Amino acid sequence: MLHYFLPSQFAKRVMDITPDVLKQKGVKGIITDLDNTLVEWDRPSATPELAAWFDAMRQAGIKVVIVSNNNKQRVQSFAEPLGIPFIFEARKPLTRAFLQALDMMGLKKEEVVVIGDQLLTDVLGGNRLGLNTILVVPVAETDGLWTRFNRKMERKILNAMRKKGMIYWEE
Ligand SMILES: [Mg+2]
Repeated sequence: MLHYFLPSQFAKRVMDITPDVLKQKGVKGIITDLDNTLVEWDRPSATPELAAWFDAMRQAGIKVVIVSNNNKQRVQSFAEPLGIPFIFEARKPLTRAFLQALDMMGLKKEEVVVIGDQLLTDVLGGNRLGLNTILVVPVAETDGLWTRFNRKMERKILNAMRKKGMIYWEE
């Protein structure tokens, strides 16, 4: 059961994930979470560094879709200035939005990675479909009530994985 929560990879920040490395792995598309993955949950728009990251992906021919459980107002006002397609109220870890994103990109599962900061939504959802998943460190320490609950569960899952030797990355 634990393996459902195990990401394929780990990165400190989304900006550490480069087009070159993705291309080497045959990745043609990214499904990314928004809050605390791309920016702090309370930051309305992308930082210049993040905008440059999106540009680099675009130039490399790697498609990106933002898939967020947050509402339309939040996701649209963040994604539209960047020209990035998005899905709001995604209800991750349900698989419907992930399938919809694959469809939007016209890509196969093997060609796509899921990037997110939460095991219980991003990683679990991606893994249920057999997608590759990259867990990033949350950008902000503060979280909403529901996310705080998820984080507690997450710590338990991560500890259990660590005990079983399933985690190989540096923390
Ligand atoms: Mg998040």
